[in-house]
Amino acid sequence: MPACPTRDVLDELLPADTPPDLIARLRAAPDGETRALALVAVARHTRETTLSGAQALGEAALSEALRAASPRAAVEALIGLSFVSASLGQQERALDTVARAQTMLEEHQLTDLLSGVLNTRALTRLTGGDVTGARQDLQDALDLARHARHPGDQGNALVNLAWLACSSGDPKDALHHLNLLEELTHALPAGPQGDELRLCLHEGRAHAYALLARQAQELGRADAQRQAAQQGLMVLRAAHSALRDTPSLTSELLCAAHESTLLRLHGDLIGAERAARRAAQLNALLRQQLYIEPQLCLAELLQSRGEFDAALAEYHSALTIARRQHRHLDIQRLLSAIGALHERQGRLSEALHVTREALQAATAALDRVNTAAARHQQLTRELRQARADASTWQDRLRQAEVQARQDPLTGLLNRRGLEEGLQRLQFPGDGPRPADGSLLAVVFVDVDHFKHVNDRHSHAVGDQVLREVGRLLAAQVRAGDLLGRYGGEEFVLVTPVRTRGRAHGLAEGCRRAVERHDWSALLPGTQLTASVGYAVTSPQQLPQALRAADDHLYRAKNAGRNRVSPTAP
Ligand code: GH3
Ligand code: MG
Ligand code: MG
Repeated sequence: MPACPTRDVLDELLPADTPPDLIARLRAAPDGETRALALVAVARHTRETTLSGAQALGEAALSEALRAASPRAAVEALIGLSFVSASLGQQERALDTVARAQTMLEEHQLTDLLSGVLNTRALTRLTGGDVTGARQDLQDALDLARHARHPGDQGNALVNLAWLACSSGDPKDALHHLNLLEELTHALPAGPQGDELRLCLHEGRAHAYALLARQAQELGRADAQRQAAQQGLMVLRAAHSALRDTPSLTSELLCAAHESTLLRLHGDLIGAERAARRAAQLNALLRQQLYIEPQLCLAELLQSRGEFDAALAEYHSALTIARRQHRHLDIQRLLSAIGALHERQGRLSEALHVTREALQAATAALDRVNTAAARHQQLTRELRQARADASTWQDRLRQAEVQARQDPLTGLLNRRGLEEGLQRLQFPGDGPRPADGSLLAVVFVDVDHFKHVNDRHSHAVGDQVLREVGRLLAAQVRAGDLLGRYGGEEFVLVTPVRTRGRAHGLAEGCRRAVERHDWSALLPGTQLTASVGYAVTSPQQLPQALRAADDHLYRAKNAGRNRVSPTAP
């Protein structure tokens, strides 16, 4: 297992702009689990500026969580890691990571984390082009979070559902989910969680209105276009005020891109250009290109000004990002925009080429979805089989362990089981110790003239007799006492007693039980008896007591059998 990151390694992993409160939380973490969760929080923050940095931190969080044996922290780390892998376009890795999170969550019944896992799986599915699967996951995540009354997960699912709706060109559906989100935020107490969700709410609405206005433009409905753009610009004011309370470069970047689109569709090209440049600046500041919105709004602006080649360059730069991340829906959207641009300029062969490319991309995405689904199914099957195998083996192992200590004929302990039990009595370790001064009675019971039984009545009857003697002796003991067949027709019983008298009574009880039992059916014409030797001891003197009890058994035999030795306590 990878080692815990040392302080130096951590310093290398932590980005320079890590907020001091996160660093303090990490440094003050009292144990591995808390440290792992703090690392998850830092990784989440780092996602804004560097995905590969966030991935390294997520891996560190995961190994810390595994080292601390905290499945909860491990699942949190895996959720973050699959999000990052999906954003980096590492589709397979993202799906595997999310499957790992799911397995761990099921094994440890961390049901409260399921909604979070589903939210992330939706994203990995969406980047692979599986819109239906992603929507289903998000809907499930939403239902679960509602049921569990977990507003944070509920909010995330609604934000993602709205985003998915916008990505699939359905702004009305997006607005519906955002209305639900607004109701949810009203019910949330003041705090960072509510602030973050409110910011997403306003940004999402601006996005939806920008899309509505764009669609109205495509349909040539100028009034609807202006109205949607106006509504979007109003929403952006709320977004900007939320941004002052909860600064986020990513949200600011997205809002600037929406603003540019909305201003352009409202007829303000100068304002649109200013906002687009601001979006591009922020994009450069974020160092990694996770979003295509800045390029997209710029491309549309350039196109509306007739600067087709420059617009084409922006579209292609957006396409590179979308391809790198396998963002199927964005790829389709961009290819169709590029195709339309070529067509408008009369470059029909280029338009045809791009349209073919779009078709190919769609087929490839479909293949990917099918492969992923098949792979998922196979993994599920394998997992189920492995679980079944594991539990069969565990059962067998348990059975084998019991068998190794059990006498198959009588079901009592065998010699090994007895010896282990005696060891435990002698060296109780961390287990319960007998109270001070408490005594152990060691009782040896040996059937008299058992060879005759075999000789006269057959070995099979002999076996039945041994079974019956075992039952008679078991009736004399309490739960927790040791009772076993030491070999042949000899039985041993060890039990705590308060007095020597009690030990003698027990030995006598065993003898009498055999003598008084009605053996007539099993052994017609034979009266069965047993001789008993016993000793009383402290646990520390147990080995000597075993020898003493055996000596007494010998004496009982020599004295004529069917008796107890010593004769009195
Ligand atoms: P004593 O009164 O001196 O104890 O005489 P005994 O015949 O009982 O003792 P001995 O040790 O001479 O003989 C024990 C017999 O028990 C010999 C052996 O064949 C038989 N025996 C041992 N294990 C089993 C078993 O599992 N089943 C049966 N049926 N007989 C067994
Ligand atoms: Mg015997
Ligand atoms: Mg014997």
